[in-house]
Amino acid sequence: MSIKLLNPQIVARIAAGEVVERPSSVVKELVENALDAGASQIVIESQGGGVSLLRIADNGVGIPTAEVELTFQRYATSKISNLDDLESIITLGFRGEALASIAAVAEVELATRAAGEAVGSYLSLRDGVVVERNRQGRSQGTTLTVKNLFRSMPARLKFLKSPNTENSRIANVVTQYALAFAEVKFVLSLDGRTVLRTPGSGRLIDTVIEVYGPEIARNMRDVSSGNGGRLGKVDPTTIVVTGLLGMPAISRASRNYLSFFVNHRWVNSRLLAWVVEEAYHGLLMTGRHPVAVLNISLPSPEVDVNVHPTKTEIRFHDERRVFTAVQKVVRRALLESAPLPKIEEVAIAYVAPQPMWQMSHVPAGSIEHPISLPPTSRPIPAFSFPALRLLGQLASSYILAEGPDGLYLIDQHAAHENILFTQIKEQRSRQQIEVQGLLEPVTFEVSPQQDEIFKSYYKELAGFGFSLEPFGERAYLVRTVPVWLHRKDWMGVLRKLTDVVERGDDWVERLAISIACHSAIRAGQVMSDDEMRELLRQLELVVMPSSCPHGRPTMIHLTLGQLEKEFGRRG
Ligand code: ADP
Ligand code: MG
Repeated sequence: MSIKLLNPQIVARIAAGEVVERPSSVVKELVENALDAGASQIVIESQGGGVSLLRIADNGVGIPTAEVELTFQRYATSKISNLDDLESIITLGFRGEALASIAAVAEVELATRAAGEAVGSYLSLRDGVVVERNRQGRSQGTTLTVKNLFRSMPARLKFLKSPNTENSRIANVVTQYALAFAEVKFVLSLDGRTVLRTPGSGRLIDTVIEVYGPEIARNMRDVSSGNGGRLGKVDPTTIVVTGLLGMPAISRASRNYLSFFVNHRWVNSRLLAWVVEEAYHGLLMTGRHPVAVLNISLPSPEVDVNVHPTKTEIRFHDERRVFTAVQKVVRRALLESAPLPKIEEVAIAYVAPQPMWQMSHVPAGSIEHPISLPPTSRPIPAFSFPALRLLGQLASSYILAEGPDGLYLIDQHAAHENILFTQIKEQRSRQQIEVQGLLEPVTFEVSPQQDEIFKSYYKELAGFGFSLEPFGERAYLVRTVPVWLHRKDWMGVLRKLTDVVERGDDWVERLAISIACHSAIRAGQVMSDDEMRELLRQLELVVMPSSCPHGRPTMIHLTLGQLEKEFGRRG
C-alpha cells in the first residue's frame, strides 16, 4: 500500500482514542472543564454505564456565543496561549483536545450561556460535525450531553466492561474530584439513582462523611504542613501538604482509599502511595492499607502535567523533595494523633459510674452480678468525663455547664444524638432494642428502587426495633418502631434506608446514626433544667462524648486558664 495522509476524520478518531478510553474518561474531562469554568455546582448523570447517556451540567462561566463552535475544534483552548504558559499550568485542562475527541466518538449536545450574555446557545454535533445550532435561554453555565458513546467504534465498545463496572469507574472519578474540591457541590446519579451528593461546604471532612461514611470520617485527622504564609517570608518553592489521614484503626484491604492531588489535580502515583504507606510502617498489619486524602500544593513550574493526554500522570522536578515533605507530614500527624479526644487533656481524674456500654462486655450469664467479676476482666474506660454542673441554656441550642476546669458549651442536638447512638448500638448488640408498638399498624409504601433494598433488609430491621411485614405490592405493614422514634419521624429513617445500606459494609453503624439523628432533640428547642441535667448525666456514659457520630464536636471547653488570659489576669 502506498503512503498517504489520513483524512481528518480518521485522524480525529485515532487521537480521540487517547483521551477517551471509556465513559469515565469523558466524565473526567467534562468535570475538569466544569471546575476550570469556576463552577460551584456540578451535576453528573449517567445511564447504561455511561454509554447510553452522560450529562454534565455546571453553573460556571459558560461559553460565549461567538466561541461555541470553536470549542469543538482540536487544540482550541482558552486556558493557555503561549509556550511559557505550558510551563506553569494552573487549570486542569490545557490541551484543547477533550471536546473535539468526545465529539468524534459520540453524539454531543451543548447548551450554554456565558456570564454577561442575555441568551445562550444550543449546539448539536454528529461525528464531530455541527448538525444544529440555535439560540436558547438558560441559566449561566454549561450542560454537555453525550449519547451513544463509541457507537461507531464496535471494537471499543466490546472492550468496555459491564455497565455496573463502568458506572463504578464513573463514580470513582466523581468521588476523587469531590474530594479534591470540597468547596464544590457534586451530585452524581447513575441510572436515575443519586449515589453521591456532597455539600460543597469547603470542609474536606464534610465530603469525606458523604463519600466514605461517618465511621471513617470519625477516624480521620487533619494534616497540614508549611506555615501558610503567616510567619513572615515564605519560600516561593514551599511544598504544602494538606488533607486528612486515616488512623491505623480504619485500615483497608485495598489501596482504593488513597487519594492524591497535586495542585488539586487528581493524580495516579504508585510512588506517592508507597511513600505514604512507608510512613505507616509498623502501624498496620501486612496486607492492610491506610485511608488518606492528600493535596500537595507546589508552584506550578515544579510539576510537569504534560506527560500523557489524560493528564493523570505527572512528573515532579524535584521528586525527592516532594516525597520527603509528604512523608514528614504523614509521620508527624500519626505521632501526634492522640488516641483520645483533646478535651480529655483537661479532665481531672473522675470515676464515672459504670457506663452502660461496659455491660455489653460482661460475659453472658454474669450480668446480674457484675460486681463479683474480677476487676481486670472489665474493659478500662477509654475516657473519663468530668462531672458537670448545669448553668443554663443558650439560644435554645447549647447547654452551658461548669466543669472542674472551666466552662463547657455543649451542642444539645449533637450530644443527644451521641447518647442515643451509644444506646442504640449497645442495645442492638445485646439484641434488646426497646420497641414501641404503634396503636394501629401503618402501611409504608416503597418505590420500585427501594423495594429491592427492602426485600433484602426488612428482616434485619427487626434487630433495630422495626417490625415490618410484606403487605401486597411494594408495601409493608409497620407494627413497631424503636422506642426512640416514637412520635418522631420514623418514616424518614425508613425512607433513607436505601441510602444507608448502599454505601457499604458498615450500614449497621449508619442506620444507628440515622435513628439517633431522627430521634435526638433539635437545636432551637427549649429544654427544662431537669432535661438538661439528665442529658449531662447520660453524656457521662458515652465512650466518646466529645464528638458526635458524624465526627463533629459536641462540646467546646474554655479552660480557666484561657479565661484568665482573656481577662488579662495572667500573661
Ligand atoms: P481544554 O480544557 O484543554 O481547554 P477542552 O476541549 O476540554 O479543552 O475545552 C475547550 C474549551 O472549551 C475550553 O478551553 C473552554 O474555553 C471551553 N469549555 C469547555 N467546557 C466548558 C465549560 N463547562 N464551561 C465553560 N467553558 C468550557
Ligand atoms: Mg478540558
